[in-house]
Amino acid sequence: MSIRTLPTLEKLARKALLRDEALAISALEDLPKRFFLPLFQEAFSCRLRRIVRAMVAAWPFSYFPVAVLMDTCNWDFFRAVIEGLRALLRQHDHPMRGNLRILDFRRVHRDVWTIEAGTEDGDCSAETVSEKQAVKPPPRYEQRHRVKVITDLYSRFTQEEEETDFLPGAHGRADSLQIHCLNMEIVLLNLDNFWMFQEVLQLEKIEVLEITIDQTWRALTCLSPDFVQMRNLHTFSLVCIYKTRLCPVFKSHYKRLIPMCISQFSSLNGLLNLYMDGICFLRGHMRHLLRNLKNHLETFSVTHCKLFRLDLCRLSECQHLCQLKHLDMSGVLLSNFCLMPLRVLLQKVADTLETLELEGCGIKDSQLSVLLPALSQCSKLTKVNFYTNDFSMNVLSDLLHHTANLSNMVMEQYPAPQECYELGLVSIERFEQFCPVLMDTLRAIRQPKSISFATDVCSRCSKRCVYEQETRLCSCLQ
Ligand SMILES: [Zn+2]
Repeated sequence: MSIRTLPTLEKLARKALLRDEALAISALEDLPKRFFLPLFQEAFSCRLRRIVRAMVAAWPFSYFPVAVLMDTCNWDFFRAVIEGLRALLRQHDHPMRGNLRILDFRRVHRDVWTIEAGTEDGDCSAETVSEKQAVKPPPRYEQRHRVKVITDLYSRFTQEEEETDFLPGAHGRADSLQIHCLNMEIVLLNLDNFWMFQEVLQLEKIEVLEITIDQTWRALTCLSPDFVQMRNLHTFSLVCIYKTRLCPVFKSHYKRLIPMCISQFSSLNGLLNLYMDGICFLRGHMRHLLRNLKNHLETFSVTHCKLFRLDLCRLSECQHLCQLKHLDMSGVLLSNFCLMPLRVLLQKVADTLETLELEGCGIKDSQLSVLLPALSQCSKLTKVNFYTNDFSMNVLSDLLHHTANLSNMVMEQYPAPQECYELGLVSIERFEQFCPVLMDTLRAIRQPKSISFATDVCSRCSKRCVYEQETRLCSCLQ
């Protein structure tokens, strides 16, 4: 036997450990992560049912590749995996225990044995609302672990018999897999597995739900009739990956679906936080949406979509928005609107509003002046974001003066003044001249904690020039 073929000490130790089932199972609790996967691989390939079941239940990683494991063993053995998974998810009911974040039902080709904790999280390409706005969700949202269920629109479950057996509830089996999922994110729900969510998940347990949809809105139309069961849902995010406009191909489809989907919001009796990003159907339907709200919302985030002037008026009239803590209308073009309705809304929420984001709204000097009297009354504000709006030095200075009483502010983001641009391009010299003047203006009024002035996003490198304590230029201007 050549030295190359000799097993390593670690491999010998693994084999010895696996020969003693009771010892192997009892050792799992103290097993370092780096030994876990090789041991699991060995137990899995040797079809050691009880050890595999115990190892799944003790899974120390954030990612669990359900479908990939399903592909690599027969159904009988896979039941051991499912039993372990069931035990693992039961632990997940206890908010501070367990590491599981992602249950991946996609049949993607990857080496399951190279999973490292935390490295699979970026697989979903869509940037989600919660990821972008991690500051906003309420404390209980942050305290609890979140399980992301990933399915893929383009990879279909083939619905073989053993797979339907894997979801025992679908066939009325008593030992149904119960996923007690408090916080759930569904990315591009595959219609073929839709029934799985209905049968397997306990919808009434879900507190936070984020759905990413494409232009067919399949996930929304499938799930919205089930809103009525989601009695504990307090945070709902709807993200569309096609943010530009409604697809003409689906025009008649939308006409039928818009009223139906919006009406389902009336079932969400516990809703406190609503995020809608890139949702084109809001245009002209804001009144309908707001009429279907049942609660006073804490968060109202309608971003990256187009609205009609009347939609803005509906916001100011809505009783359910008068106790808002977080208002985000970033990416909603307001440049052609009278902002008096927004001023009325700000006045209504002046005693409660904590964060205000109006990034990329194209607001001009005259419009900002309309907002200022209301803004100065929002004394609980901790964060404002006015990046990518069109303000002059004078009006920006006026804005800063109107924040004199906002002593709770911890983060302030303002656009660089118009004077920093020459023929539409950033002038470094002017940027470095005007931003410190504005900074000094504010420092003469109060001591800001974190404040920045930034140019629009550069069309070439997608970065901004930012002035905080010092100047940070975009990549092209460095
Ligand atoms: Zn650049």
